[in-house]
Amino acid sequence: MSQASAYAAYSADTPLAPFTFQRREPRPDDVAIEILYCGVCHSDLHFARNDWGMTRYPIVPGHEIVGRVTAVGSEVTRFQAGDLVGVGCMVDSCRQCQACRDGVEQFCLEGFTMTYGSDDRQDGTFTQGGYSDSIVVSEHFVLRMPEGIDLASAAPILCAGITTYSPLKRHGVKAGHKVGVIGMGGLGHMGVKLAKALGAEVTVFTRSAAKVDETKRNGADHVVVSTNATQMEAVAESFDFMLDTVPVQHDLNPYLAVLKYDGTHILVGLLDPIEPTIEAFNLVFKRRVLAGSLIGGIEETQELLDFCAEHGITCDVEMLDIKNINEAYERMEKGDVRYRFVIDMATLKGNAAG
Ligand SMILES: [Zn+2]
Ligand SMILES: [Zn+2]
Repeated sequence: MSQASAYAAYSADTPLAPFTFQRREPRPDDVAIEILYCGVCHSDLHFARNDWGMTRYPIVPGHEIVGRVTAVGSEVTRFQAGDLVGVGCMVDSCRQCQACRDGVEQFCLEGFTMTYGSDDRQDGTFTQGGYSDSIVVSEHFVLRMPEGIDLASAAPILCAGITTYSPLKRHGVKAGHKVGVIGMGGLGHMGVKLAKALGAEVTVFTRSAAKVDETKRNGADHVVVSTNATQMEAVAESFDFMLDTVPVQHDLNPYLAVLKYDGTHILVGLLDPIEPTIEAFNLVFKRRVLAGSLIGGIEETQELLDFCAEHGITCDVEMLDIKNINEAYERMEKGDVRYRFVIDMATLKGNAAG
């Protein structure tokens, strides 16, 4: 075992604070990683505050992890000490079910092992995430960072990036398609970059007229202010896909109305019940599809990292000192980040307990 320094949530209503715990000795198929950077995802905040009613404390969040291999187990073949690697939202799955064999471990029929907040499949220990100085992960769930990619700004590719890339690939988005991206946060800004790189014409839908210029600077071809009925009417029935990154309840009906017939509305941010109700008319009369999507498999995540390196795509990040993590959560809740916080784990040194 080795001692890890970290920041953890100790309860739903107290700030994150320094924490130390033990990481396991590498098993034969394990890779031990010194964490250099970790992105801050909305899920981290939901977990820390027990918004989904499943959190056990203390919990170390973080599933956009980039680091350097420090040691490998005896059976590891793909990595060696010194390699630059990433770990996303999953650290294990059953590896035998149809979903695992199909390379979509996120849909493992037995449930995948989350990077934090799960029980390890072999020894039952509680998994802890990337707001820490080290992690030990089976090599199957370790990603290779492509040569030349900026490590800090690549970290959010491991959750925000794959969450938006996977459905775009799955639905075959390509040149000639018109894609609408709803919401311009961590997910939305990656959705814009990735849909553009796949060749699509991209329109961002935002509630705020104040965000129009900023959004255009960030690569969108067009911006529609969704609270402006005239602008919404002007784009009726014109999109092939709508990538909906909004994590809070919102009316889908106006967005369904801007899809062409056979168009697809893809939910990647919402986990709550859909309110207000969807008018079935909006689906039936135009043969439209309402779809969902969840992160992506390990192979597809590697494909995305390589795709981002090839196309020069990174996240727009704001670097964070880990002692400011609680303030960062507050700013994230207000949408006051362009567009993702990434913790520089060097700031953990000298900060942590014991
Ligand atoms: Zn995430
Ligand atoms: Zn499985």
